[in-house]
Amino acid sequence: MVVAVLAATLLLAPQASALPAWPNVAQGASGPNVTTVQYLLRHHSQSVTADGAFGPATKSAVVAFQSAHGLTADGSVGSQTWPALIVTVSQGSTGDAVRAAQTQLNRYGAGLAVDGQFGAGTDRAVRDFQGSNGLAADGQVGPQTWQTLVGGGGGGNPGGYALPLSRSAAGRSDYAASHWNSTPAVDLMVSYVPAYAVTATVADHYDSSSCGTGLRLLRPDGSRFVYCHLSARSVADGASVSAGTQVGTTGNTGNSGAPHLHVEIRTSDGVARCPQQFLLAIYDGVQPPSLSSLPTTGCTG
Ligand SMILES: [Zn+2]
Repeated sequence: MVVAVLAATLLLAPQASALPAWPNVAQGASGPNVTTVQYLLRHHSQSVTADGAFGPATKSAVVAFQSAHGLTADGSVGSQTWPALIVTVSQGSTGDAVRAAQTQLNRYGAGLAVDGQFGAGTDRAVRDFQGSNGLAADGQVGPQTWQTLVGGGGGGNPGGYALPLSRSAAGRSDYAASHWNSTPAVDLMVSYVPAYAVTATVADHYDSSSCGTGLRLLRPDGSRFVYCHLSARSVADGASVSAGTQVGTTGNTGNSGAPHLHVEIRTSDGVARCPQQFLLAIYDGVQPPSLSSLPTTGCTG
């Protein structure tokens, strides 16, 4: 008996204390943890769009979910609400709770299609994630695995990407469009909406007559994402930003005939690369290709 209690203490205590804190996800937030909350709300029959942007509709859905579960109905998802919201999924599961798990696994570079089908590929990704995070590799996304997924920081380079605009602002075909002139880039035709960092970068304020109010989002290797024609920036020059951080509001500054966000990708050698494949991969929830593998032609008008 004493041995059993001791063994249980030894086995369970370190693991429990090693779990990251549940993140607090509230109105104004964006990115994959928001998408995860939205898919889980959908699983619980709340009607909300999984667009990765936590707006008033998502808040209402959280309040409704909290009220129905006897939780403090404050509309933000923290340590109280996450445990009620998560759903254990494993091979054979289908639907929005599986999409939530796939969205999380992709933050760590799993490169899964977010299709709501928990098949062999998702099972392998879960076991890999569990194995590399000190969890029992049983292929079940249960409470400890969920907490480790959503509370963790993402897997660095392969995972942890966010779209530059919310899914309600720009659809898949917008990211596939060719650029109007000979510069490899994409013009996302939106009016005045939040623009988000695609990945963890350092914000570099950049202004020119053609780019208008712009931002260069610098990566450690010197490669960068360039956003042009903003109406406003919402990050300080030199600030470190994570994927999904709002960095500005789109607009119509510089050489721009109509409000839009111009997005460029440049590798460390300064060469502009076609951003379409990269952004579409993020849109589809699959692992984006390396920047240096992106083509330099074929995406211009
Ligand atoms: Zn452009």
